[in-house]
Amino acid sequence: MKAEIIAVGTELLLGQIVNTNAQYLSRELAALGIDVYFQTVVGDNKDRLKQAIELAKSRADVLVFSGGIGPTQDDLTKDAIAEVLGRELRTDRPAMDKITEFFADRGVAMTENNKRQALVIDGCTPLPNSTGLAVGVAISQENHHYIVLPGPPSELKPMFENEAKPWLLHQVLTDEMPLYSRILKFSGIGESALEDKLLDLIDAQTDPTIAPYAKEGEVAIRLSTKAENVEQANVKLTSLEVQIQSRLAEYMYASEDVPLEETVVKMMGDLGLTVSAAESCTGGMVMQSLTTVPGSAAMLKGGIVCYSNEMKEKLLNVPHEYLEGTDAPGAVSPEVAKVLAEQMRMIADSDFGISVTGVAGPGFSERKPAGLVYIAIAERGGETEVHELRIKGNRETIRRRSTKTLLYRLWRRLVQAEKKD
Ligand code: ATP
Repeated sequence: MKAEIIAVGTELLLGQIVNTNAQYLSRELAALGIDVYFQTVVGDNKDRLKQAIELAKSRADVLVFSGGIGPTQDDLTKDAIAEVLGRELRTDRPAMDKITEFFADRGVAMTENNKRQALVIDGCTPLPNSTGLAVGVAISQENHHYIVLPGPPSELKPMFENEAKPWLLHQVLTDEMPLYSRILKFSGIGESALEDKLLDLIDAQTDPTIAPYAKEGEVAIRLSTKAENVEQANVKLTSLEVQIQSRLAEYMYASEDVPLEETVVKMMGDLGLTVSAAESCTGGMVMQSLTTVPGSAAMLKGGIVCYSNEMKEKLLNVPHEYLEGTDAPGAVSPEVAKVLAEQMRMIADSDFGISVTGVAGPGFSERKPAGLVYIAIAERGGETEVHELRIKGNRETIRRRSTKTLLYRLWRRLVQAEKKD
């Protein structure tokens, strides 16, 4: 089964927005075992859109559209497909009711063009929009299958996951065995280094397939296989997972799609351990990422954002001679990272104290380059470890990677604690 993704929108052609929908859809379709051979981008122009549809029909079985289904006159995706298919547009009653209710609830008069969002192609399966107003469309005609989704990713993703994917599985992929996937998550290693370690497996992959992809500071691998049932799938997926895990044990923190902070919070909760954080260049990001996880109250005692030297000295007892003077190592140094972690741990009376101090950039600080960061982990009754990081990227990347790397090192420490337990 071959697919083509057609992203509609002049904003895309002008470079005003990035086509993240195509990336998301390609990944999701691949996971369903559907090969995406082409991604097309076309502006809000009906004739050119119809040309794109005709071309896609000549080389794909499944055509997935993103965008151009809003209320305005330049939202033409459904009109163009209806014309190519020789069908009429009609109003979908539930979608129309939702739009009417939306405006009534807000006490705002509904303009006539909003009714366009309730239009569907005659004979289709309407795809309800749980996070917006424009209804989607799924329709098959003459061995081609068309799926029409809204442009905003916050609407497109839930509509694909909850409406379009089940439609594809039940209406289009009926002869095929169901596809089962498993996500493995890694930290402390880049996507290319990880691929390098699995190159032979990736090159030889047939079943299950292996698809690596990177998220900020984390790498994921999706293993997918077609099987009669979940038991058969699990046998195949687990066998490959074990091989991968044996090569990458020091980086693989989960065999499900969870962020690193969630694993850290859960492990600390299970082990009954607590942590506190002293943060300089990350300005609270470490605590922010831990507190997004439910249950963090049990393991995170709190922390101090000690951005200035004055605060490092006053609140965390960093010796003045470490911070100032010609021979001072300076705020961005292994010495200061170590004191911050140890003092933080003692002040909070937590099992672990973690710290981060670095140059987030742009430019130099203390004659040190942007991206130079020190992180440290102190443990009750244990050794303090300090690591130097040299991160490439802008201020945001440096801060985010520092946070992830510190959590990665903490995770490694917890793995050791688990072994001792
Ligand atoms: P609306 O009701 O907002 O008009 P729509 O389905 O007609 O929705 P568009 O008008 O094409 O969609 O795009 C709306 C917004 O969705 C864009 O401004 C952009 O923020 C986002 N968007 C559209 N297409 C994409 C895409 N391919 N990738 C990422 N974001 C997109």
